Amino acid sequence: MVPPNAVEDLDGVLLGRFSPAALRCVILGPNAESSVKDLCKARAEEWSVPIVQLRIGARTFKPFFTDSDLRASTWSGDDFQSIASVCGGCFEPADLSESGMCQWCSINEEAQNSAAGRSLLAISLSLGLDKGLPFEFEGMEPRGRLVSQSKPTK
Ligand SMILES: [Zn+2]
Repeated sequence: MVPPNAVEDLDGVLLGRFSPAALRCVILGPNAESSVKDLCKARAEEWSVPIVQLRIGARTFKPFFTDSDLRASTWSGDDFQSIASVCGGCFEPADLSESGMCQWCSINEEAQNSAAGRSLLAISLSLGLDKGLPFEFEGMEPRGRLVSQSKPTK
């Protein structure tokens, strides 16, 4: 919270000015456009502060940050705390297998390929048997395009 006279109204966006010396780091949002990323990197370099990226992982609900070397950390309230257990494949915090990868990244290609072959639904779809099948589950409303409108896979 700042007093009203500490911010200026630029087309409805309230901006506060402060000295770059007050900055500890520049934090990029997960969906920042490349032009914004480039500007933030230039400013962080100019002001000699680290740049970190807020990330929302696919494997965890808890947001985390990565620095320029993809080291992951969380914010403790006072400072960034390194996360010891980070997947070598997706760089997300995770419980790791012996290979240093999370469960998702350590699934090998053979297992990925055979998984589709072991699913009756995947087999049906790959054979084009999806026409007219009402794909919905009890208690769930179908969303998106109808399966009968989908293009055949391969
Ligand atoms: Zn991973």
